[in-house]
Amino acid sequence: MTKKCEKYEALLQFSDEATLMAHLEECEECRAEHEKMQRVSELIKEVKPLFNKKQKYTKLKVACLLFLTLVGGATLEITDANYGILDTIKYGEELTLEDLGFPVDDYGMIKVD
Ligand SMILES: [Zn+2]
Repeated sequence: MTKKCEKYEALLQFSDEATLMAHLEECEECRAEHEKMQRVSELIKEVKPLFNKKQKYTKLKVACLLFLTLVGGATLEITDANYGILDTIKYGEELTLEDLGFPVDDYGMIKVD
């Protein structure tokens, strides 16, 4: 495998769209990178309203957890896990992407593959 093309980021930041598109035409690696970025930005667009309505969503989430606990036979493990999440909500910590049910990597970023 040859050295990874590193033009994508530079073109995205310092160049105009036409130059970027021209490079995407001829560079498969950057095209893949570009598609990945498109998918991430679509995901972010989907998630954004959830962050804006965090209060409402948190209440909904608590309701869902209670419902699942009651209906789902509530084994000790499930109950423990739910308390962890409820603590986070109770102490007002930021919901992570993982909490919102997205696949994330070790850095808490959305994983796209
Ligand atoms: Zn390239």
